[in-house]
Amino acid sequence: MSDWEKYVKKLTPYVPGEQPRKKDVIKLNTNENPYPPAPGVQRILEDLDAGSLKKYPDPTVHDLRCALASYHGISEDRVFVGVGSDDVLAMSFITFFGDAKKSVAFADVTYSFYDVWCRLFGIEYERIPVREDFSIDLNAFDGDRGGIVIANPNAPSGIALSPGEIAGLISAHPECVVIVDEAYVDFGGESMLPYIDEFENLLVVRTFSKSRALAGSRIGYAMGSKKIISYLLAARDSFNSYTMDTITQRIGIASVEDDEYFKKRVSDIVKTREVYGKKLKDMGFSFPKSAANFLFATHEKMDAAGIYEELLNRGIYVRYFKTPGIDNRLRITIGTDDEMERLCIALKDILGI
Ligand code: PMP
Repeated sequence: MSDWEKYVKKLTPYVPGEQPRKKDVIKLNTNENPYPPAPGVQRILEDLDAGSLKKYPDPTVHDLRCALASYHGISEDRVFVGVGSDDVLAMSFITFFGDAKKSVAFADVTYSFYDVWCRLFGIEYERIPVREDFSIDLNAFDGDRGGIVIANPNAPSGIALSPGEIAGLISAHPECVVIVDEAYVDFGGESMLPYIDEFENLLVVRTFSKSRALAGSRIGYAMGSKKIISYLLAARDSFNSYTMDTITQRIGIASVEDDEYFKKRVSDIVKTREVYGKKLKDMGFSFPKSAANFLFATHEKMDAAGIYEELLNRGIYVRYFKTPGIDNRLRITIGTDDEMERLCIALKDILGI
């Protein structure tokens, strides 16, 4: 086998949750938002002019960056935008960890794309064991690091760390960039954003895919010091300057501009999480306290793999990871009340209660 092929064969790609082609299913497996995006997004789509596509998009994504900057009360040169937070995170890994002489550290139970990017970019990494209850032990990140990545709230556990705890970690690691992946922060976590003035080595990463119901549009962004953002921009422009298309840039702005709708939908999801979390507990499930739009549940009697299969037979998709250590858990995305009700009916049937 040739050298190039040996290299390619070593890659172990991330496996996203299934996107079933069938229409009549309940999809609670990829932490999408069950509600539509802000009405302003619909209006953008209705008013589309195909002629606007003959030109390249704005490579600086100026207007969307300004909208985000003003939303968060920071200047626009502290915002970086990418095609989903996967794009932002991948770009950050290569920019800040690409030449790391020490290992990059992240929890062993966290977003499974982190190790995939490390392997792709040849970055040495260390997976720090979480505690038995899946909480992250920040003391275990001690020692010189090439970088640190924390998902907060973490996935798939849903557990949130406090900003004070993470600030302690960053103070202890001035030698490297600390990425805080806040994909789920709007559902109950506390952001590290107030700390970006204090720590030049902190990068806060967000997505429009979950709380803003725009997984299909692919919008992610990062906020940090001017310095850290300027390096990200330089790396992006060494790779692909036109990452975000014209329509998506406008859609992003429409979403940011409708804060009332955003807050209402997030609060609907949080309410549903609390109501149906209680119902699941009554059925014998347990899970860590979730600050995200999903529950990481295990059942006292029936194994997760069996429940997963039975739900699938009934057209209900939840996420099941065969990974040792979490292979008796289901990650259940919070849907609408109606979807969660139908999930509960199916579960009662499966569990015989
Ligand atoms: N971070 C975490 C923790 C996630 O769960 C996800 C969703 N798979 C992402 C980042 C990426 O989300 P997106 O690329 O859709 O912004």
